[in-house]
Amino acid sequence: MLRLGAHESIAGGLHRALERAASVGCESMQMWVKSSRQWTAPPLEEAEIAAFKAAEAETDIRPVVAHAAYLINIASPKSGLRKRSVASLIAEATRCEQLGIPYLVLHPGAHTGAGVDEGIRLAALSLSEVHAATEGFHLTILLETMAGQGTVLGRTFEELRAIIEATAQGERLGVCFDTCHVFAAGYELRTPEGYEATMEAFAAALGFERLKVIHLNDSRHPLGSHKDRHEHIGHGYLGEAPFRHLLHDARLDGLPGILETPKSADLHEDRENLATLRRLAKEAR
Ligand SMILES: [Zn+2]
Ligand SMILES: [Zn+2]
Repeated sequence: MLRLGAHESIAGGLHRALERAASVGCESMQMWVKSSRQWTAPPLEEAEIAAFKAAEAETDIRPVVAHAAYLINIASPKSGLRKRSVASLIAEATRCEQLGIPYLVLHPGAHTGAGVDEGIRLAALSLSEVHAATEGFHLTILLETMAGQGTVLGRTFEELRAIIEATAQGERLGVCFDTCHVFAAGYELRTPEGYEATMEAFAAALGFERLKVIHLNDSRHPLGSHKDRHEHIGHGYLGEAPFRHLLHDARLDGLPGILETPKSADLHEDRENLATLRRLAKEAR
């Protein structure tokens, strides 16, 4: 069984994300480690770190997963933007290390016209630079499977493998599997046969030992649409079946399964989606 959780807001302080997650019954969670719309942030204060660790000690939420800012594009052919992305990623990795967060989910970037091969080369170069600057960190950066909108890299499992293989200390990298993105990229998840074929393709390209986090999102667009729009569990083109398969898959036991679905201030959508997932986990596959 997965450890179910959700992405929660850090409005009011990093520790507030943990409080929000606990209030809706999360067993794991995801958060930003700084404002997601800014390149930089002042260094973390000791008091912020202490408040976060105190809140974490009061819950059983584990792991806490961080998601890197969307601004970051480690595959950019514009060297200024790529260097800024590397610096920003190092700063986020440092924050994770200070907070004791084990995983940082990262979009592998977009080549913006330079071509897939050049994008893979630049993404790997950037990750090599980040690894060199974060020697000895406990943190693992996780490359996320992507829907493949526009020139975004990571629309196939093989593209992620190519980035990992070209990265210095590539063995330090892991992978985050997003159900909406994988389906929008063209991988079937709804039928038992389709689900198994997709998981076998994942195992062949990347291996389950690299899989550290699963994002549980339904999709607002159909199979192979290459559009990245998340929907509430069971209300999109995926429906309930893929989540039933995932929740009964012994290869995924103990991994965090994290919602990134729309929500309002009272978080009732998180409660509903978590209840749906817990019901599916009890139903026969
Ligand atoms: Zn993401
Ligand atoms: Zn995701």
